[in-house]
Formats: sequence, structure tokens, C-alpha cells
Amino acid sequence: MLVSVLETYESWDLRKVAIPSRSRLYQLDPIGIGTPLVESLTGYISRLAEAHYVNPGVLMEKELATLVKKEYGGANLHRIYNYTTALNGSGVMATDLVQALEKLTLRDDLCFLTLLTWDKLFPSRNLLRSVRAWCPSCYQEWYEKEQLIYEPLLWSLDVVKICPYHHHKLIFECPHCHQKNTTLAWRSRSGYCSKCGEWLGLIPGIESANKNTLKKNELEQGIWVAKAVGELIAATPYLHEALSSTTIALTLSKWVEQIAKGNIAEFARQINIPRNTVWLWCKGKNLPSLEALTNVCYCFGVTILSFLTEETNNLSLSRKLVTTEVKTTFRAKSKAFDAERVKSYLEALLTNEQSSALSMEQVAKELKVDRRTIYKHFPHLCRAISARYASYQKDYHQKIIEECCQEVRLVAFELHKQGKYPTESAVSALVSKPGYFRHKKVRLALKEANRELEL
Ligand SMILES: [Zn+2]
Ligand SMILES: [Zn+2]
Repeated sequence: MLVSVLETYESWDLRKVAIPSRSRLYQLDPIGIGTPLVESLTGYISRLAEAHYVNPGVLMEKELATLVKKEYGGANLHRIYNYTTALNGSGVMATDLVQALEKLTLRDDLCFLTLLTWDKLFPSRNLLRSVRAWCPSCYQEWYEKEQLIYEPLLWSLDVVKICPYHHHKLIFECPHCHQKNTTLAWRSRSGYCSKCGEWLGLIPGIESANKNTLKKNELEQGIWVAKAVGELIAATPYLHEALSSTTIALTLSKWVEQIAKGNIAEFARQINIPRNTVWLWCKGKNLPSLEALTNVCYCFGVTILSFLTEETNNLSLSRKLVTTEVKTTFRAKSKAFDAERVKSYLEALLTNEQSSALSMEQVAKELKVDRRTIYKHFPHLCRAISARYASYQKDYHQKIIEECCQEVRLVAFELHKQGKYPTESAVSALVSKPGYFRHKKVRLALKEANRELEL
């Protein structure tokens, strides 16, 4: 049969469709960039690991270690537990991790989950606290509203002591196991204790207990500081190129002019900070810490963001009352240093074998002197104490591993007696320190026991 009219079909475009490149890890959206409660990088790692159904430790060691420089142990979590705070900071660890994570997720905004954009703005020392802190009310509220549970960067800043939304102190110690959490741990999970795995949201009683311990002016200043720092964090993604440390020296000099007619000594007296310190700040020779700058800003009721963006017209000591608070903080820190007393204490410690379990941190606490001050005066003695402590820690750690090996062996034999196969998970469910199975020696002890049992 002949078809008289040919039908025209729509034509096909045979060109290859451009497929965007795939990321190795999920391209998880970070929470809250451009807000005071932006997520921290370590919190992001926990959520990313959870999205992949692995522990953050596994993610760090299997995926990130190869991409991160090795000088500080790569991304080997066991070796950097005490330094994981730096992963949210402004130094090389944060830079390396951001680069590695951006490579794996194909994102380009992860630096805003750290303080990398403040690297030339504030000295990094004491900028971040060394342990994890959290607001149980925030966790609870997000949980009840079915929002994502995460770890805001704001909570990791040492100067922030109060939740700006719930007005009570941030918590550092798990209310269940009474242990502190490192900033990132093998089993870190947003909202949960990395040591005992319990929920860290609000537990009845804690809120009121916290409120009771704070004086009204402390609470007021704490809320002000948290809000001011939050405001700076929120503005950072948009302003970071405009924020510079030279502004700090310039604005401070302007303030000295305005408040004390250019007299640094008078200005220093008004804000109760040593004259030389203010002089060094004004000349740009030293940078004030975030805490010091926040205190100065608080005296004048000017936020840190306004200070750094030079929106500080109509300056007045309107909040002079507040300087009393700053005064006590600075006075306490500048208490006379009794070099003789400290020296003889340190020397006595070194001759006493029993005191090798003391770290310099504990020594400083006992002496009630800032650790940095002691280091400045007696670096050799401090180093000797630290070295002795490190070796004590190593021995202690070995001892614990030995004990674990023995316990593993006993449990394996016991299970076998009960007719059960002593697998790693069966044994770890019964031993007192299941986490120690991460040590090769403990795993080998189980293998050895199974061999003895001819399994
Ligand atoms: Zn809160
Ligand atoms: Zn716990």
C-alpha cells in the first residue's frame, strides 16, 4: 500500500547532554551560612558521616586522611583528638580540612563553617574553646520542632558563654556520664554525647540550675557578647574581604581621640586596661583578642561589627557602669606574678616522682596562675613537666590497653563456655571499655583467645 503523504516526526537532538561532575561524598547543604548560628565544620563532618551511615572517625580516616597534610597526624582522629578544636579555627588544620572536604563534596562555601575568614583579624590563641559546648534548650527546641539537629560555630568560641536565645550558660559536661566531649570524636553525633551516646537536649532541672548561678550583670553581658559575636559571624560571608586588622588600630585611635582627647593613658584608665596594651593596639603592633575587643566594645555599647566596619559615630561612655565588670576581669588577670613561689613549686614537682601525673594545665590551676605566664618565665621547667606528663600518659595508656586485653580474653572464654561464638561485637558488648577495640593490640588479644579456643 502506498502512502501518499509522508508524516514528519519531531527530530531528535543527538548531542550528548552535559552531565555535571559527580561528588564523591554527598553535597550536603551546610546549615545557616550568613546567620549567627551557622554550623561548625566539625558539626558538618558529623552530619556528613551520619548521612553516609558511618562514624565521623571512619570518614576522617578513610576519606579525608589521604587528602590532608600529615604534619599533625593527617586526619587520623586518634592522634588529633586534643586538637580537633583547631578544625573550626583559622589555621592550617582548618584550611587543609576545608580543601579536602570541598574536593569530596564539590562545595565551595565550607570555609564559612570555620574562622578562616578571621585569620588576620584576631589572634588564634584562646579564640576557640578546647572542648565541645552546647545549649541543651537549643537541641531540645530543634528536636521538638522536627528541625535538623546540628552544632553551631558560635558555641565553639571561647568568648561565648551564654546561649543568646535561651539566656542560660552553655554546657561542657554530659549530664549523664559527666564527661567532656572533644570537639570532634570518633563517634560524634549532633545532639548526642560522644562518650556515652545519650541525648544532650534539655533535662528538667538543668535550666533553672544554670540560671541561678548567674548574676544579673553577668547574664546581661553574656547575652550581649553572644549576640554581638553572632552578628559578626552572620556578616562574615558578605564582609570578610572588608574586615581588616588595620581597622582595629584606626578605630581604637579614633576612640582615644574622641573619649580622651588623644590621651592613651586616660583612655586606658577609663576602660581599665593597662596603658601599654592599649598603646600597642593603637599602633597596630599587637592585636587585641576577640575577648578583649568585645569587652572594650561592651564598655561603649558598640557592637564588634560596627567597630570593625567603622560605624561608630556618636561614641560615648554611655555604659560606664559596665566598665566595673571589665575592670574585675582585667584586674584578676593582671595579679602580681610571684616568680619565686612558682619556681620553687615547679622545681619541687620535678623532684617528686609521684607528681608525674600532673599536666601543666593542672599545675597552673593549682598555682592559680595563667599557664602562659608560667611558660613565659620558666620555659625549661614547664617543658620538663610536660614531657614527664606525656611519658606518664603513654605508660598509663599502655597499662589500660593491657587490662583491656586481659578482660577481652576472659570474656571470650566465658562466652565460649556458654556455647556462644566470641565475635568482636559479642565481646565488645560485655567488656567495660568497648571503645578500646579500636586498638590493634586489643583486637589481636581476641584473635589470640579464639586461637587458644581453637575457633
Ligand atoms: Zn539555646
Ligand atoms: Zn555522656
